[in-house]
Amino acid sequence: MFALVDVNNFYASCEQLFDPRLRGRPLVVLSNNDGCVVARSAEARAIGVKMAAPWHKTRQLVESNGGTYRSSNYALYADMSDRVIEVLSTFSPNIEVYSIDECFLDFDGFADRTAHGQRIRQRVQSWLGLPVCVGIAQTKTLAKLANHIAKKRPQFQGVCDLAAMPQAACDALLADTEVGEVWGVGPKLNIHLRHMGIATVAALRDADPQTLRERFSVVLERTVRELQGIPCADLELTPPAKQEVTSSRTFSGYVRDIETLRAAVSSHASRAAEKLRAQDSVAGGVTVFIQTNRFMKGPQYQRALSVRLPSTSSDTPHLARWALRCLEGMYVCGYDYRKVGVILRDLGPATTGQLSLLERAASKQTEDRRAALNAVLDKVNQKWGRGTAKLSVEAGSTHWHMARERLSPEYTTNWSGLATAS
Ligand SMILES: [Mg+2]
Repeated sequence: MFALVDVNNFYASCEQLFDPRLRGRPLVVLSNNDGCVVARSAEARAIGVKMAAPWHKTRQLVESNGGTYRSSNYALYADMSDRVIEVLSTFSPNIEVYSIDECFLDFDGFADRTAHGQRIRQRVQSWLGLPVCVGIAQTKTLAKLANHIAKKRPQFQGVCDLAAMPQAACDALLADTEVGEVWGVGPKLNIHLRHMGIATVAALRDADPQTLRERFSVVLERTVRELQGIPCADLELTPPAKQEVTSSRTFSGYVRDIETLRAAVSSHASRAAEKLRAQDSVAGGVTVFIQTNRFMKGPQYQRALSVRLPSTSSDTPHLARWALRCLEGMYVCGYDYRKVGVILRDLGPATTGQLSLLERAASKQTEDRRAALNAVLDKVNQKWGRGTAKLSVEAGSTHWHMARERLSPEYTTNWSGLATAS
């Protein structure tokens, strides 16, 4: 038995939690560079704000209804996410963190699952101030669907247990829910299924799995079996370590000069190296890419350059140096660059780091000092905010940073962001 716990309007709820002025009115959270809508409060949904809508086309609608917006505050969301996971861990021995605001819980063996779900809701609300809904069922696909139903239908009071329901009631719900709400049925597949006359969840559940497998994929066949109550996927308790880590960003404007690009590449290399160390990996290769805006008229330039490192590493200065060499190897003056990024590749566990013949001479002492330096770097940046300690090449040039016009404070991760009462 599985439960899917999902925070309602997660980003918007985090913003409303710390700023009472944002409650009870349309609120949208925007993507990087304040481009598109990535989260909406219930009030913003109610006035018809669409997900992923470009902000310049939606602003009028939101503001004429007394609403407002915030830039994405990922430091805040990531920290609140950690807290949600910590609270949820007190409710089940096995838990899969599925996304920043969703967890699957092993719900086997609980006598009254709905009551257990309500206790989760109450505890997350009273300890963290965030609203969650709980979907319960015998497969992950059904639990996800149950969560959607719990959110959309007030009679469930935020907890829907499909497995505890009489069959007829469950059938009626599935017949009244659009097939596009099923986990893994994206907009394209949705259209195909509708053409085949499969418009509801019940119709998909009752379709022939073999036919769907031949026509689409084995994945969809599995989805159908899961809708029938046959589990095809278990909890993923330890997510596999990532095979590559990336840090990249679109500039808020355009960048022409190499000095600014160097600052950006160095910053991305540092950030990627930090992610690398967080998962105890080392990288065997570095790729850097730069690109102009292909949606705009004018001269275009897109390139990526990779190097294989002489020996695997997770050392920030070392990785940044190689990333800068890549940049210098492909930079052409005269273009308006829009985006740059760093990818660390060929990852392996930190313990198996192989030294090259050339570097074998480097003493153990040097290596230990490097490790200590990186550990301090991570500690400082975790405690006082990203970019507090950085390489000198990044200093001085900040105009490539993201446009985040209305960024809320780091309420929970930075002393200077602490909420004040007046
Ligand atoms: Mg959510």
